[in-house]
Amino acid sequence: MEKQKSLKSFWLNELTWEEVAEYLKEDDIVLVPVGSTEEHGPAGPLGLDTYVAIALAEDVAQKTGVLVVPPLWFGDSDHHLGFAGTISLRTETLIQVIKDVTRSLARHGFRKLIFINGHKKANLPAINTALKDLHEYELPQVLLAVVDPVKIAGSIASKIKEHKEHHAGELEISEVWYKYPKLIRQEKLTKEEVNFEKVFSPFFQDDLFGAGKPTIDIMWNSKEQKEFAPSGSFSASDKASSQKGKKYHDYMVEVVVQFVRWLKAYKGPIGNQ
Ligand SMILES: [Zn+2]
Repeated sequence: MEKQKSLKSFWLNELTWEEVAEYLKEDDIVLVPVGSTEEHGPAGPLGLDTYVAIALAEDVAQKTGVLVVPPLWFGDSDHHLGFAGTISLRTETLIQVIKDVTRSLARHGFRKLIFINGHKKANLPAINTALKDLHEYELPQVLLAVVDPVKIAGSIASKIKEHKEHHAGELEISEVWYKYPKLIRQEKLTKEEVNFEKVFSPFFQDDLFGAGKPTIDIMWNSKEQKEFAPSGSFSASDKASSQKGKKYHDYMVEVVVQFVRWLKAYKGPIGNQ
């Protein structure tokens, strides 16, 4: 840990209000993990995206001494509602939740908030809408940043994975396997992948980490999803492994650690910190 030697925990929920107030005298950075509770095929637990966000936040906090708020276990998962256990916040609800969490943290003096999104891509419309609006109209003095695996791991993903990665695929399964080995049902890993060209068009973004291909979005609903992906998995996960998860995870932790270090020294122009 770089400082905050006196902190009993980097989890805000394990501290007292006096300890948080003490932290705020020295620092104003906080990590906000956001995940989902949605099906992740036969091999992955419902909380997979939240475990991804927790694991990233926890390891970054350990290396930088910044605080982490309790994770948001629910995300924008309407399209997975055909599967038992999925709990979804509508996009509008998630926007309001993100706004209220941000307002609370800003009120106490946190001035640099880093949202760590474990629900690759799908939570981004809500998170970005909420933060863009707050920063324009209410909190111009607060720096609001968003981390998403799809945007930070593009260069390493293709060197690690062997299949196209969309949902419940090799990379996210591997990462959780590495950090929480008991949560992956190894005997249920699958070779199956959805034939997106047939379901949507050759323009579907069938690999979230793939770049360069022209892509066109077509909306789908939970009923359609249950039909085109009956197991819940979109992508093959048979090549997943704890070792691949470690490479992928460590790379992302390092990127975010570098960003936090940069942010600690940052003095504006955003918000004129
Ligand atoms: Zn996921």
